[in-house]
Amino acid sequence: MSNRNVLVVLSGPSGVGKGTIAKLLIERNRNVSLSISCTTRKPRDGELNGREYFFIEKSEFISKLEDNGFLEYSEHFDNYYGTPRQFVLDSLKEKDVLLEIDVNGGLEVKKNYPTALLIMIEPPSVEEIRNRLIKRNTESMEKINSRMQRIDYELGKKDLYDYTVVNDDLFTAVEEIENIIKSEKSKI
Ligand code: 5GP
Repeated sequence: MSNRNVLVVLSGPSGVGKGTIAKLLIERNRNVSLSISCTTRKPRDGELNGREYFFIEKSEFISKLEDNGFLEYSEHFDNYYGTPRQFVLDSLKEKDVLLEIDVNGGLEVKKNYPTALLIMIEPPSVEEIRNRLIKRNTESMEKINSRMQRIDYELGKKDLYDYTVVNDDLFTAVEEIENIIKSEKSKI
Protein backbone atom coordinates (compact mmCIF):
# COMPACT_ATOMS: atom_id res chain seq x y z
CA MET A 1 0.00 0.00 0.00
CA SER A 2 1.40 3.41 -0.90
CA ASN A 3 1.39 6.41 1.36
CA ARG A 4 0.07 8.82 -1.21
CA ASN A 5 -2.46 11.22 0.17
CA VAL A 6 -5.79 11.82 -1.53
CA LEU A 7 -7.68 14.95 -2.43
CA VAL A 8 -11.29 14.45 -1.38
CA VAL A 9 -14.10 16.69 -2.62
CA LEU A 10 -17.32 16.75 -0.60
CA SER A 11 -20.32 18.24 -2.39
CA GLY A 12 -24.06 18.18 -1.94
CA PRO A 13 -27.01 20.51 -1.59
CA SER A 14 -26.88 23.21 1.05
CA GLY A 15 -28.25 22.02 4.38
CA VAL A 16 -27.24 18.42 3.77
CA GLY A 17 -24.64 18.53 6.56
CA LYS A 18 -21.38 18.71 4.56
CA GLY A 19 -19.80 21.13 7.05
CA THR A 20 -20.59 18.91 10.04
CA ILE A 21 -19.29 15.85 8.21
CA ALA A 22 -16.06 17.64 7.24
CA LYS A 23 -15.54 18.84 10.83
CA LEU A 24 -16.02 15.35 12.24
CA LEU A 25 -13.72 13.80 9.63
CA ILE A 26 -10.97 16.19 10.64
CA GLU A 27 -11.53 15.65 14.37
CA ARG A 28 -11.42 11.87 13.99
CA ASN A 29 -8.55 11.61 11.49
CA ARG A 30 -5.21 13.19 12.15
CA ASN A 31 -4.22 12.53 8.58
CA VAL A 32 -6.99 14.69 7.11
CA SER A 33 -6.92 18.47 6.72
CA LEU A 34 -9.35 21.00 5.30
CA SER A 35 -8.30 23.24 2.43
CA ILE A 36 -8.50 26.99 2.90
CA SER A 37 -9.93 28.95 -0.01
CA CYS A 38 -8.94 32.39 -1.25
CA THR A 39 -11.63 35.05 -1.37
CA THR A 40 -11.88 38.69 -2.33
CA ARG A 41 -14.64 39.37 0.22
CA LYS A 42 -13.78 41.19 3.40
CA PRO A 43 -13.40 39.16 6.61
CA ARG A 44 -16.46 39.07 8.88
CA ASP A 45 -16.14 39.67 12.62
CA GLY A 46 -14.22 36.82 14.19
CA GLU A 47 -12.74 35.56 10.93
CA LEU A 48 -8.98 35.29 10.63
CA ASN A 49 -6.80 35.45 7.55
CA GLY A 50 -5.41 31.96 6.94
CA ARG A 51 -8.05 30.27 9.11
CA GLU A 52 -11.48 30.70 7.47
CA TYR A 53 -10.04 32.02 4.22
CA PHE A 54 -7.03 33.70 2.69
CA PHE A 55 -8.46 37.18 2.23
CA ILE A 56 -6.89 38.80 -0.82
CA GLU A 57 -7.48 41.81 -3.06
CA LYS A 58 -9.29 41.42 -6.36
CA SER A 59 -6.16 42.35 -8.34
CA GLU A 60 -4.19 39.62 -6.56
CA PHE A 61 -6.96 37.11 -7.23
CA ILE A 62 -6.99 37.94 -10.91
CA SER A 63 -3.24 37.66 -11.30
CA LYS A 64 -3.27 34.33 -9.43
CA LEU A 65 -6.06 33.18 -11.74
CA GLU A 66 -4.04 34.16 -14.80
CA ASP A 67 -1.09 32.22 -13.40
CA ASN A 68 -3.27 29.08 -13.21
CA GLY A 69 -3.13 29.36 -9.42
CA PHE A 70 -6.58 27.89 -8.74
CA LEU A 71 -7.87 24.32 -9.05
CA GLU A 72 -11.33 25.90 -9.47
CA TYR A 73 -12.95 29.22 -8.71
CA SER A 74 -16.33 30.91 -8.82
CA GLU A 75 -18.04 34.19 -8.18
CA HIS A 76 -20.69 34.63 -5.46
CA PHE A 77 -22.34 37.96 -4.72
CA ASP A 78 -19.69 39.97 -6.57
CA ASN A 79 -16.81 38.29 -4.78
CA TYR A 80 -14.42 35.67 -6.08
CA TYR A 81 -13.67 32.42 -4.29
CA GLY A 82 -11.05 29.90 -5.35
CA THR A 83 -9.23 26.76 -4.28
CA PRO A 84 -5.52 27.62 -4.24
CA ARG A 85 -3.59 25.03 -6.26
CA GLN A 86 -0.20 25.35 -4.53
CA PHE A 87 -1.68 25.40 -1.02
CA VAL A 88 -3.59 22.19 -1.76
CA LEU A 89 -0.55 20.50 -3.36
CA ASP A 90 1.64 21.46 -0.39
CA SER A 91 -0.99 20.22 2.10
CA LEU A 92 -1.22 16.93 0.20
CA LYS A 93 2.45 16.29 0.93
CA GLU A 94 1.46 16.05 4.61
CA LYS A 95 -2.11 14.78 4.72
CA ASP A 96 -5.27 13.89 2.84
CA VAL A 97 -7.03 17.13 1.93
CA LEU A 98 -10.77 17.81 2.03
CA LEU A 99 -12.50 20.36 -0.17
CA GLU A 100 -16.07 21.32 0.59
CA ILE A 101 -17.33 22.84 -2.64
CA ASP A 102 -20.32 22.81 -4.98
CA VAL A 103 -20.70 20.33 -7.84
CA ASN A 104 -19.41 22.65 -10.53
CA GLY A 105 -16.29 23.33 -8.46
CA GLY A 106 -15.88 19.60 -7.79
CA LEU A 107 -16.05 18.71 -11.47
CA GLU A 108 -13.56 21.46 -12.29
CA VAL A 109 -11.16 20.11 -9.65
CA LYS A 110 -11.41 16.63 -11.22
CA LYS A 111 -10.42 18.13 -14.59
CA ASN A 112 -7.38 19.79 -13.08
CA TYR A 113 -6.51 16.99 -10.66
CA PRO A 114 -7.84 13.72 -12.09
CA THR A 115 -7.05 11.55 -9.05
CA ALA A 116 -9.35 13.68 -6.85
CA LEU A 117 -12.05 11.60 -5.19
CA LEU A 118 -15.49 13.15 -5.67
CA ILE A 119 -18.06 12.30 -2.98
CA MET A 120 -21.65 13.50 -3.18
CA ILE A 121 -23.52 13.84 0.12
CA GLU A 122 -27.18 13.11 -0.39
CA PRO A 123 -30.07 13.84 1.98
CA PRO A 124 -32.16 10.79 2.96
CA SER A 125 -35.21 12.34 1.33
CA VAL A 126 -35.49 15.41 -0.88
CA GLU A 127 -39.25 15.46 -0.23
CA GLU A 128 -38.55 15.74 3.48
CA ILE A 129 -36.46 18.88 2.90
CA ARG A 130 -39.28 20.44 0.91
CA ASN A 131 -41.83 19.59 3.63
CA ARG A 132 -39.55 21.01 6.32
CA LEU A 133 -39.10 24.26 4.36
CA ILE A 134 -42.85 24.56 3.80
CA LYS A 135 -43.65 23.81 7.46
CA ARG A 136 -41.05 26.31 8.69
CA ASN A 137 -42.98 28.92 6.75
CA THR A 138 -40.12 31.45 6.75
CA GLU A 139 -39.68 31.62 2.99
CA SER A 140 -42.00 32.31 0.07
CA MET A 141 -43.05 29.41 -2.12
CA GLU A 142 -40.98 30.99 -4.90
CA LYS A 143 -37.83 30.91 -2.77
CA ILE A 144 -38.56 27.36 -1.63
CA ASN A 145 -39.00 26.26 -5.25
CA SER A 146 -35.75 27.88 -6.30
CA ARG A 147 -33.90 26.20 -3.42
CA MET A 148 -35.45 22.88 -4.43
CA GLN A 149 -34.34 23.43 -8.03
CA ARG A 150 -30.78 24.00 -6.83
CA ILE A 151 -30.95 20.78 -4.79
CA ASP A 152 -32.21 18.87 -7.85
CA TYR A 153 -29.43 20.44 -9.93
CA GLU A 154 -26.69 19.41 -7.50
CA LEU A 155 -28.03 15.88 -7.01
CA GLY A 156 -28.59 15.56 -10.77
CA LYS A 157 -24.81 15.53 -11.19
CA LYS A 158 -24.22 12.66 -8.80
CA ASP A 159 -23.52 10.16 -11.58
CA LEU A 160 -20.44 12.22 -12.44
CA TYR A 161 -19.19 11.76 -8.89
CA ASP A 162 -17.15 8.75 -7.76
CA TYR A 163 -19.33 7.97 -4.73
CA THR A 164 -22.63 8.99 -3.17
CA VAL A 165 -23.08 8.85 0.60
CA VAL A 166 -26.50 9.33 2.19
CA ASN A 167 -26.40 11.46 5.31
CA ASP A 168 -29.12 9.68 7.23
CA ASP A 169 -27.06 9.08 10.34
CA LEU A 170 -24.07 11.41 10.76
CA PHE A 171 -21.66 8.86 12.22
CA THR A 172 -22.55 6.21 9.66
CA ALA A 173 -21.96 8.73 6.86
CA VAL A 174 -18.59 9.73 8.33
CA GLU A 175 -17.54 6.09 8.70
CA GLU A 176 -18.59 5.39 5.14
CA ILE A 177 -16.40 8.25 3.91
CA GLU A 178 -13.50 7.04 6.05
CA ASN A 179 -13.82 3.61 4.45
CA ILE A 180 -13.95 5.09 0.96
CA ILE A 181 -10.76 7.06 1.62
CA LYS A 182 -9.06 4.00 3.11
CA SER A 183 -9.96 1.79 0.17
CA GLU A 184 -8.93 4.48 -2.31
CA LYS A 185 -5.55 4.87 -0.60
CA SER A 186 -4.94 1.15 -0.84
CA LYS A 187 -5.34 1.38 -4.63
CA ILE A 188 -2.73 4.07 -5.25
P1 5GP B 1 -19.17 32.88 2.37
O1 5GP B 1 -18.83 34.23 1.83
O2 5GP B 1 -20.53 32.88 3.03
O3 5GP B 1 -18.10 32.33 3.26
O4 5GP B 1 -19.27 31.86 1.13
C1 5GP B 1 -20.09 32.17 0.04
C2 5GP B 1 -20.11 31.01 -0.92
O5 5GP B 1 -18.82 30.77 -1.48
C3 5GP B 1 -20.52 29.68 -0.27
O6 5GP B 1 -21.51 29.08 -1.10
C4 5GP B 1 -19.25 28.87 -0.29
O7 5GP B 1 -19.50 27.47 -0.36
C5 5GP B 1 -18.58 29.37 -1.54
N1 5GP B 1 -17.14 29.11 -1.54
C6 5GP B 1 -16.27 29.24 -0.51
N2 5GP B 1 -15.04 28.89 -0.88
C7 5GP B 1 -15.11 28.49 -2.18
C8 5GP B 1 -14.14 27.99 -3.12
O8 5GP B 1 -12.95 27.82 -2.87
N3 5GP B 1 -14.61 27.70 -4.35
C9 5GP B 1 -15.91 27.85 -4.70
N4 5GP B 1 -16.28 27.52 -5.95
N5 5GP B 1 -16.85 28.30 -3.84
C10 5GP B 1 -16.45 28.63 -2.59
